Amino acid sequence: MKICVTGGMGYIGSHTCVELIKTGHTPVIIDNLVNSNKEVLNRIQKITGVKPAFYEFDVRDEAKLDACFASEKFDAVIHFAGLKAVGESVEKPKLYFDNNVGSSKTLIKVMKKYQVKNIIFSSSATVYGTPKHVPLLETDPIGQATNPYGQTKIEIEKLLMAEAKQDPSMNIVLLRYFNPVGAHQSGLMGEDPWGTPNNLMPYITQTAVGRRKELTIFGKDYPTKDGTGVRDYIHVVDLALGHVAALKAIKEKWGLKIYNLGTGKGTSVLELVTTFARVNNVKVNYQFGPRRAGDVAENYADVKLAKKELGWSALYTIEDMCKDAYHWQKLNPNGYAQ
Ligand code: NAD
Ligand code: UDP
Repeated sequence: MKICVTGGMGYIGSHTCVELIKTGHTPVIIDNLVNSNKEVLNRIQKITGVKPAFYEFDVRDEAKLDACFASEKFDAVIHFAGLKAVGESVEKPKLYFDNNVGSSKTLIKVMKKYQVKNIIFSSSATVYGTPKHVPLLETDPIGQATNPYGQTKIEIEKLLMAEAKQDPSMNIVLLRYFNPVGAHQSGLMGEDPWGTPNNLMPYITQTAVGRRKELTIFGKDYPTKDGTGVRDYIHVVDLALGHVAALKAIKEKWGLKIYNLGTGKGTSVLELVTTFARVNNVKVNYQFGPRRAGDVAENYADVKLAKKELGWSALYTIEDMCKDAYHWQKLNPNGYAQ
C-alpha cells in the first residue's frame, strides 16, 4: 500500500518507515522538520536501500496537503506528526492545540476530499489520565489529561471517534503507545531529542556517553517495588511493527478500533538504570530528586487485545532496549547532527 506518513522523519515515524518498506509498502513522508533532521532519509536508505519520497511542509498547510494527496493517491495514512514535549505544552498550550489538533483537522478534511478511508493515529497512554488500576485496558475510560499535550491526544481521539460515527466507511485505528524506547539495531536510527531530554531513556544514554553529568531519578517514595516510578517500556521497532500489523488489519473494513501498544510489563526507573549499566557495562551516574509534578506511580498496559485482533505482541526485552539505545548513542553521540 502507499502510505502517507505524517511526522515520518521523527523517532517513531522513521522506524515505522523502515518496517513498512521491509514489508513491501511505500511510505511517503510529510514532515516540517520542527523536531527532526533531514539526515533521517539517508539513514532509512542505508538500512532498506530505499529513500522514501519526502514532502517538507506543515500538515496544517491545506493547499500543500491537498496538492500532495492529489498527486500521490494514498491508500492509508499513519499520523505521527505532532509536538510531544509535556513541559513545553504547559508553557505553550495554544501552540500544542494549534499544531496537534489543527494538523489532525486539516488531515481529516483532505482525506475526506480524496476518499482516503484508512488512518492509524499515534495516541498515548496519557489519555487514561491517572490510572485507577493497572494494567490499563482499552475499555477504561479516557481520563482527565494531566497536561495540554495529553489534552490534544484526547481531542484528536474524539475527533476521530466522531468521524467514525458520521462516516461508517472510515477505518480508524487509535494506537495508544506506552513508553517507546530503544533504537534500530543497526545503530543508524534512534531517539534524538533537542536540548535536555525530558524522557528517561535518552537522559540515561546521554549520561552514559558523557553528554550529561548525572541522571536525576524523580522520586523514591512511590508505592512501587523499589519506590521509583514504574512504566511499560516498549522497543521502538516492536512499536513500528505494531503499525504494520494495524495496517494489515485495517484493510478489512472494521470501523474504529483502539489498541494499547506496550509489553504488558512494568519496569521501575531503578530497574531500567541498573539493567542499562549491566548489559552495556557502563556506569550511569544518578542521584535521587523529588517527584516530578504530574507523574503517576505505576502505568502499564493490558496488551491482550492487540495480540488477539492484530496478531501482534512485543518481542524485545528490556535488555534489548537498553543495548540498542546505547549502541545508537555511542555511534551518534550528538544524534543526527554532524
Ligand atoms: P517526534 O517529535 O520524533 O516525531 C514527530 C514528527 O512530527 C517530527 O519529525 C516533527 O518534525 C513532525 N511534526 C510535528 N508537527 C508537525 C506539523 N504540524 N506538520 C508536519 N510535521 C510535524 O516524536 P515521536 O516520538 O516520533 O512521536 C510520534 C507521535 O507519537 C507523536 O504524535 C507523539 O505525540 C506520539 N507519541 C509519542 C510517544 C513517545 O514517548 N515518543 C508516546 C506516545 C505517543
Ligand atoms: N524519569 C526520571 N528522570 C528523568 C526522566 C524521567 O526519573 O530524567 C522517570 C519519570 O518520573 C517516570 C519514568 O522515568 O517515572 C518515565 O518518564 P518519561 O518522561 O520517560 O515517560 P512518561 O511515562 O512520563 O511519559
